[in-house]
Parts: sequence; C-alpha cells; structure tokens
Amino acid sequence: MDNKAYTHVSVLIVGSGPAGLSAAITLKKARPDLDVVVIDKAQGPGNHTLSGASLEAHALHALLDPVDPGWPQSEPAKTALGSRVDRDDVMFFLGDKHAFRMEPLLKIAKTMGLGFGEMIQHGDYLCSISRLTAWLCSIAQSLGAEILHGFAAGDIVWDSSTHTAVGIKLVDQGLDKENNPQPNYLPGETITADLILLAEGCDGLITEKFIQKAGLVRQGNQLYSVGVKQLIKVSEQQYKNFGAGRVVHALGWPLWTPVIGPAMFGGGVMQPMSNNHIAVGMIVGLDYKYCDFNPQDALTRFKEHKFVNQFIAGGTIVEAGAKMIPEGGLYAIPRDPAVGLIGRSNVVLLGDSAGFVNMLKIKGLHNAIYSGIAAAKAAVSSLDAPLGFARMYTRFLEQTGVLKEMESAKNFRQTVAKLGPLFGMPLSVLGKFLPKFHIEPDYQAMTPDRYRLKPATKFDKDTFTAMAATHHREDQSCHLLIQDASICMEKCTPRFGRPCITFCPAGVYEMVHDQVRAANPSNCLHCKTCQRKCPYDNIRWTVPEGTGGPRYKTM
Ligand code: SF4
Ligand code: SF4
Repeated sequence: MDNKAYTHVSVLIVGSGPAGLSAAITLKKARPDLDVVVIDKAQGPGNHTLSGASLEAHALHALLDPVDPGWPQSEPAKTALGSRVDRDDVMFFLGDKHAFRMEPLLKIAKTMGLGFGEMIQHGDYLCSISRLTAWLCSIAQSLGAEILHGFAAGDIVWDSSTHTAVGIKLVDQGLDKENNPQPNYLPGETITADLILLAEGCDGLITEKFIQKAGLVRQGNQLYSVGVKQLIKVSEQQYKNFGAGRVVHALGWPLWTPVIGPAMFGGGVMQPMSNNHIAVGMIVGLDYKYCDFNPQDALTRFKEHKFVNQFIAGGTIVEAGAKMIPEGGLYAIPRDPAVGLIGRSNVVLLGDSAGFVNMLKIKGLHNAIYSGIAAAKAAVSSLDAPLGFARMYTRFLEQTGVLKEMESAKNFRQTVAKLGPLFGMPLSVLGKFLPKFHIEPDYQAMTPDRYRLKPATKFDKDTFTAMAATHHREDQSCHLLIQDASICMEKCTPRFGRPCITFCPAGVYEMVHDQVRAANPSNCLHCKTCQRKCPYDNIRWTVPEGTGGPRYKTM
C-alpha cells in the first residue's frame, strides 16, 4: 500500500495489538466518518503478538457488544477464543517430581479479600493472542479502519514550542549494512495526525522517545519479565488428560526453591490450545541475578518436571517465541508529573505501552482492551480540542476501573523485587499498607552468581528461532547496537562472562574475532530482553525495516 496516501490522518494508532485495535473498533463504530489509521511493523495480523492468555470475558463484551451483540456465536470468535477456564491449577513445584495445588489457599485468600485470590481465572477465555489480534483486525477493517502492516515507526515528531506531537516518522527502507541508500531506497515519511495513540506493546521505542520528549515520568522503574514459550502438539489422550479448559500456573522449582535457591520471580505456564496442542511457557522476572542464566534452560527443566512431562512427552514442538512483559505496575506507569495524565496533549499511552499488567492476576489483556475503549471515547470527545485529549483519556480510564485495579495490585511485584520471593511473597498480602520501595532497574540486579539447575544439554536456539519463523532482510544495517565494545571485554567478560550470549533467546550475540557482536540480527525475536538485561545497559534495540521479526500464528 502506498503510504503517501496517509500523510495526514485524524487519528493515528501505533501498534495493532489488542489495545490499538480496540481503540480503532470503538472509534470507527462511534464515528464512521473519521479517518483512523493503525500502523504496525509486523508482516501481518497477529505476527508480533505472542502468548496464549486468559482473557476476562467482560472486556470483550464491553468492546464488541456495541458492534454486534451476537459475536460470541460467530465462527471467527469461536476460532479466536477457544474454551473457557473450568479448571484453574495454581501449583507449587518442589523439586522435579513434587507438585502441590495451591487453589484451596487461593480460595481462602479470595474469601478474605486478599490479593492472591485474584489469581483464580475461572470463566476466562483461553485464547491465542495472535489469533485474537487477527480477528480484532478483521473487525476493525470491516468498520473502515486502515490497518497498515509492515509500516515501522522510527520516531515521534514533537513540537516542543507547543508541547504537541506533529506525527510519526516511519523507518527508512532500502539502506544497506553501512546505511547507504540502495536502488530500492524509500525514505520513511512522516504521517501527521491530530491525535496519536501509542499501543506498541512492552518497551515500545516510540513510547520511550515520547516519554522523554514530553517529560513524562515514572514514580518507580519499570520492571520486566521475559516469557519463552513453545506450542506442542500432543497425543489425543494426553490432551484429554490435561483438559481443554484447564490452565496451570506453577511457582517454585526451577526458578525458586526456598532457602537453598535459586531465588527468582516467575513461574511456568501450561495452557491448552486447539487441535491437541498445549502451550508450555516459562516467565522469569528480569531482576534475576544469575549471570549464566538462560530462561530457556528453566523452560527445559520445567518440561522435565514429572507433572508437566506426563502431558507433553513425545509431543512435537510446532511454534515457539519470546516476549517481554511490563511488570512494574502502578508506580511504573508514565505520567505527566504536573497533573498525572497518562499522555500529554494529543498523545496517550495504551495497554502494555503504559504498563497496565496486573501481576496479581498475571494478566493485562482486559486492561489493554479497556484502555483502547477509553482512548477512543476520549478521541471522539476531544477532536475539536486535541490538547484536552490526554486529560479526557485519563478520566475515561479511571471510569473503566483500570487504574483502580492497578492500585489494588501496586505492592505485589515491587515487594517481591525488594525482598525476594521467600519474604516478599508472604509480606505482599499486606497490600496497600506497604510503603513504596525504591527498586533498581533490572539490569543492575546481575551478579557473578551461577544458576545451579542448568539442564544436561544445551538449549537448541536455532530450532527455537526457526519455530518463530522470524525473518529480516539480510542486507540492512544491524538494528542491535552495542554502544561501547570496550565495556564488553574489559568489564563484562571478567565479571559476568558476557551474559547476552547466554540469555538472548534467539542466539543473536556471539564472539566474532574476539569481540562480542550482534552477529545474527536477522534471528531477532523483538523481545528486547537484551536492552533491559545487559548488566552495563550497553545495548540499544532500534527498529529494523517493516515486516521484519517473528511471524507468530497460533501462539
Ligand atoms: Fe556484556 Fe552487554 Fe557487552 Fe553483552 S553487550 S558482553 S551483556 S556488556
Ligand atoms: Fe530479544 Fe535482543 Fe535477542 Fe532480539 S537480540 S531476540 S531483542 S534478546
């Protein structure tokens, strides 16, 4: 599609994930006459949205009932949403053989109104975010929204004299490895817009540039986790034994064993997908301290656990991927320091771009959808007065209950980050009575300590990357920048042993001629873990040409 046709639009949405598409759907339903354009760097719908997830049904009703109240009976909805949770196993793994169900404790917590009770997900949809995104994309398009895939945003054009955004500058296409224009060179145009909605997902590049240019601040550092996941085709009997409506969240081994360690925040996840597939994942807080730790090693150990292995032994991995999750909660939401708005003038932050993940529930999809609805309502109300957009959005967001929910969970993750799982988990039940702690950024948590539960065999990153179907044009400049090579050899190597080579799930970093290099940028899964976990904050992830990156389909 010719991007020249979109040089100015009324509403420009960056990111076609659930938050951005919810905004597009609500906007076009309310104002079919408005030109609403969504840009996304992925090659196609859902290609950059990863994870099986539990989705609270009320959020979908709030979004889609005004469009078509009969949507739950439609075939596309059944394909995208799968089954509802009828068995919710929150477990504690002790070693590689023992597993204890924590549901009775969680039910007591729920009865007493304690935060842990929120982990129960009964009745939620069990969906693939990739499929959900593709479905929402088709709804938005049917209402008249323009969804432009392969359009990578490179910068936000900010007018500091008026404190407003002018538009979004797209990434140049057709540069060679040394940034010289090739015959197919296409300079990235600027799409100007009256209103801009940033819905890029976790650690968005434009979002971070906007936060800096507009002077937004976070009360506390954003904390991240990385999730690595595999979709496994199992036998009919294994799938039946697991259950089509069951979700498993497992705390403990191999991330945390009391007293003797390791001591990391996170856990394993199992979720049934359609056609005898089970998604198995491992989510690890990036405030881990082990310099030789690779989240895929923990995934391997999780899959070896007796409880997990019975359902997946002999299965075939058909898809894989990795992504980061923003876990910092309420304190990490970027706001205008003077008035607390989640945005500034004609720009607002949605979904994971803002950090609306509730770590007590271990989910944020419902909040992403509500933030999209709130942004659309605010846009309709403020088209004639764009400078009031961020104010209106924050007000609608409060009305949806998103911020109240974030408030209720605000102390859980930060308490575990401050005190570790052994003391932090139990103490977090004190919830709102706890103070705000100062938490260092994730990269500062690394130590020379070693992870003691390494699996016997080295993880096969090449196959993992192939299963993500990731692809970039080879002859473009490397989008992963190691800022100071001398730090790698003089400081990082002797102290930590070059952890980027170990933790990058795609094996992008290697030693080449005695230097650490981003040697395989075309394998990059766009998870951005390297940008947040290099212990010297020495890596910058920049945006490659549009269509680059993974091509998730059913994860
Ligand atoms: Fe260490 Fe970061 Fe250099 Fe990798 S890029 S070797 S993690 S300093
Ligand atoms: Fe993730 Fe960085 Fe590796 Fe790319 S290079 S897959 S962003 S850790």
